[in-house]
Amino acid sequence: MNDLLPGEIEVWQFVESTARTLFGRFGYGEVRTPMVEDTALFVRSVGEETDIVGKEMYTFEDKGGRSLSLRPEGTAPAARAYIEHSVSNQEPVSRWFYMGPMFRYERMKTGRYRQFYQIGAEAYGAREPAQDAELMDVVVQFLEALGLTDVTLNINSLGDDNCRPAYHAKLVEYLNAHREELCADCQQRLERNPLRVLDCKNEKCQAVAAAGPNVLEFLCEPCRAHFTDLQRKLGVLGIKYVVNHRLVRGLDYYTRTVFEFIASHPALGTASTVGGGGRYDKMMKGLGGPDVPAVGFAMGLDRLVLLLKEGGKTFTQRPDLFIAVADEGSQDAGLALASRLRREGLKVDFDTRGGSLKSQMKRADKSGARFTLVLGEQERQSGQAKLKPMAGGEPIPVALDSVAATVRAQPEAPAAAPAS
Ligand code: ATP
Ligand code: MG
Repeated sequence: MNDLLPGEIEVWQFVESTARTLFGRFGYGEVRTPMVEDTALFVRSVGEETDIVGKEMYTFEDKGGRSLSLRPEGTAPAARAYIEHSVSNQEPVSRWFYMGPMFRYERMKTGRYRQFYQIGAEAYGAREPAQDAELMDVVVQFLEALGLTDVTLNINSLGDDNCRPAYHAKLVEYLNAHREELCADCQQRLERNPLRVLDCKNEKCQAVAAAGPNVLEFLCEPCRAHFTDLQRKLGVLGIKYVVNHRLVRGLDYYTRTVFEFIASHPALGTASTVGGGGRYDKMMKGLGGPDVPAVGFAMGLDRLVLLLKEGGKTFTQRPDLFIAVADEGSQDAGLALASRLRREGLKVDFDTRGGSLKSQMKRADKSGARFTLVLGEQERQSGQAKLKPMAGGEPIPVALDSVAATVRAQPEAPAAAPAS
């Protein structure tokens, strides 16, 4: 679990504010649910045989003897809230997004943490492929807005209750014939949840999976039509994608469409999936709610942040102005001037410790401020001071009562990198 301090948090804030803008444009409203839920919620939706529920949940008993879990993902809590508030009675289609911490007891590696952050979205009430396509479009536009272009969309269809059993039977038959080649985990998965074998990160298991039956060949007519139409709609939107028949995703609740966004940057290692999702038309009813279809996705913020940091852009906002005081008698005036300019909208740095002008000028340099203004007795009496451009150049005369306007009027010089 990580601490995020000033200096690092700015890139997170950039990702979060970009998400708010993008999801807002598409009509997705933000929901916030508690960090803890009844353990049973995740067992019933994510599935007992998944890694998440089987191995990764932080589960504990509260003082009332209830079994609670820190949420390992956001789809089940959102579905619970949707059911609990009878949202389907109020509107036929709802679009929600969420962002916040999730918890999984995983082995710590690059891009894999025990408290990590997800941004996700869910669209309830529409069965049509247009909804799947719209959701992928949000992600595509979100990644574009972040400037992350080296990401590939993989899509697949897992069919539904009608056609999946035949595929399932064929897969089990095939995997049983190759049992010896599978890792120990997958030999167990084969008994309890054979689809999970396709999701194994072990190379040998992947090789076995690659040569196995192709789920797309088993789709019934309605599922095939849904998947074909989805691809046509992605074409209409100009969204590039790859059909990957081995894509299953790590959760149990999906029907028909599943998808993943995979980055090719080496910094991520095996943690290259920045996000994914799919359709889960049966989950609401399975949780005791209305028969409402849904499609959703979640992205890992930690991984997006890693990619953005690799891009080398800086996200910290430097101060517009540093105010230094030339003598102790000007300390109060400096404090007051800083306060007034902040109220007027400038980002102002000021050394509350006072001290020598030399040490303040050092601080000014370090702060990365665009300008420094030295305030002494003479400036206070004349009402006139000078803005010293920290990137070099002639000082700019300024009246103390029009500092904000003067700073704003100066063209932004190419950013001098703030010293840290
Ligand atoms: P993986 O196959 O990489 O374990 P997953 O299938 O467990 O991923 P999801 O449950 O689909 O992941 O979560 C969606 C996204 O959340 C992932 O694509 C990833 O970006 C992020 N994520 C999942 N687990 C972690 C973690 N432990 N630390 C950081 N990010 C994570
Ligand atoms: Mg995982």
